[in-house]
Amino acid sequence: MNRGLLIVVSAPSGCGKGTLLAEILKDKDYYYSVSATTRSPREGEVDGVNYHFATREEFEDLIKSDGMLEYAQYCGNYYGTPKKEVEKKLSEGKNVILEIEVQGAMQVKEIAPEGVFVFILPPSVSELKKRLLKRGTEEISVIEKRVSEAVGEIKYAEKYDYVIVNDDLSKAVDDFKTVISAEKMRTKNSKEIIDEVLKNA
Ligand code: 5GP
Repeated sequence: MNRGLLIVVSAPSGCGKGTLLAEILKDKDYYYSVSATTRSPREGEVDGVNYHFATREEFEDLIKSDGMLEYAQYCGNYYGTPKKEVEKKLSEGKNVILEIEVQGAMQVKEIAPEGVFVFILPPSVSELKKRLLKRGTEEISVIEKRVSEAVGEIKYAEKYDYVIVNDDLSKAVDDFKTVISAEKMRTKNSKEIIDEVLKNA
């Protein structure tokens, strides 16, 4: 069996990344890596499903025991990808999605350059602001801060392999699937197919 692809997805908040990934994850070939974090659960979030919620001490223990593939501090909290499950799912042939911010993504790029790095963009910064305002969950000052953070993050987009603009959701889903199909056809990911064709030749 071919190993699955390691897919790293980053996007500033308000890019509709959650909705896009929910569509992709309907396909059982994909596995969503559940991160660990020290931030408190938001309403409706479930431990082990959205995140593994941990204390700072637990998180730092995992770092010390080399249990993290990558980690970063974001808005005063730790976020990280536990290594074990990612490795297990990749070896089972699943495409593993890491939904992480840019600092973590750059660490993964160092240790796993064979990964597929995808950046989700909003159609424009003004549209992003409009979406955050419409969501109505934050005060204007917080929205301003998120928008300026988004601008900083978008500057990293060119370090990724692919950029997908999430303007129309179904187009963005198609674009994402196209990227993954193309990646699977790369010769480096097709060794077993070549061997299979040559079997008994
Ligand atoms: P939130 O608190 O809104 O759930 O996430 C904040 C940011 O942390 C988002 O950009 C999200 O992609 C990122 N994030 C979530 N899990 C991880 C992780 O395991 N590692 C890193 N580096 N970032 C993460």
